[in-house]
Amino acid sequence: MPDTSRPTSRTASRWAGIPPTVFAEMSSLAVRTGSVNLGQGFPDEDGPAGLLEAAAEAIRGGANQYAPGRGVPALREALVEHQRRHYGIELDPDTQVTVTTGCTEAIAAALMGLVEPGDEGVLLEPYYDSYTAMLQACGAARRPVTLRAPDFRLDPEALRAAVTPRTRFVLLNTPHNPTGTVLTEAELRAVAEVAVEHDLTVITDEVYEHLVFPDAGTDPDAPDGVRRHVPLSTLPGMAERTLTLSSVGKSYSVTGWKVGWATGPAPLVDALVAAKQWLTYTSGSPFQPAVAHALRELPDEPRRLRDALQGKRDLLVDGLAGAGLPVTTTPAGTYFATSDVSHLGWDDGLAFCLALPERAGVVAIPTQMFHDDPHGAGRHLVRWAFCKREEVLTEAVERLASADLAR
Ligand code: GLN
Repeated sequence: MPDTSRPTSRTASRWAGIPPTVFAEMSSLAVRTGSVNLGQGFPDEDGPAGLLEAAAEAIRGGANQYAPGRGVPALREALVEHQRRHYGIELDPDTQVTVTTGCTEAIAAALMGLVEPGDEGVLLEPYYDSYTAMLQACGAARRPVTLRAPDFRLDPEALRAAVTPRTRFVLLNTPHNPTGTVLTEAELRAVAEVAVEHDLTVITDEVYEHLVFPDAGTDPDAPDGVRRHVPLSTLPGMAERTLTLSSVGKSYSVTGWKVGWATGPAPLVDALVAAKQWLTYTSGSPFQPAVAHALRELPDEPRRLRDALQGKRDLLVDGLAGAGLPVTTTPAGTYFATSDVSHLGWDDGLAFCLALPERAGVVAIPTQMFHDDPHGAGRHLVRWAFCKREEVLTEAVERLASADLAR
């Protein structure tokens, strides 16, 4: 049985032309071919035992019926504390926080709740695949601002040029999947200036907020000169127009729990909830107290994970270089690194990724799937996930090093 569905003649036109999500396709390719899966970004180790136990305890303790639509109070309180502790953001747990079924639902509900048919949104390209699918389903158009290899920086001029009189919103992702870019203070400021100037609503996907590496480098515009994740909502003029989305999956290695959240001004949260209530009604009851427990009692876990991931990143980056697949730049955050495969004679990253299981027994993700023009800036780029055990990464790079990868 295929685990994804392709649009058919019976599928409504709002989904026309949208392929099955590349992550599921590539994961099933990995299973079919017995390949090492460096495609879909999910860790191959569980989150901390205390977190797992808290969920089991919640189930045993009877947290098995509908939770409140906006989430259980303990989790909303824990999220308020989280935003205060990390970023100095103050929120009202009753009106400015809602729990969602993963960030993917938060993205869908935010767009359904806030966007009118015909609206235009500015997005960083390459775009995470659910953004484009949901924009199309909402009848909205996208205006790309392309992040280009090797370093994937945001060009403020391109950002300004992307805005038209129909532009109503920005959908921003930092730390950025698939490029691993972490926007700098100057880049965020450019986004904020454009948003204020054109009175745009901003939806930010910050699911990799805690996965910015200690060696991410300097940021001359940061108060202490250190490059880190900065929520756009903390910039001047942004708190009142930014809906911030995140989740527990990446920070605590429980991507299958699907617990996400949205924080921001009450009218923006209300708009999201207007849609969310008809999508999932409420989100998984026993996971919510468990996530509240993690945020409160296990606050060091994301840092531990981040430090471990930095070592895994280096293992993969060094191994890829040794295998003739050097990364375009060492990523500052996320789970992902990118290689350019054009020097091996491939003019198409999808063709490379489809050949890779047979050539090397490894699966990766073609970045061109996240670009409007498959022959454009992402054509030769391939994304590798490094959120895997060290022996898995070692096996993958050994396979790559001993394979014939030339076209
Ligand atoms: N966020 C994960 C990735 O980028 C995949 C999530 C999904 O499969 N939809 O690899």
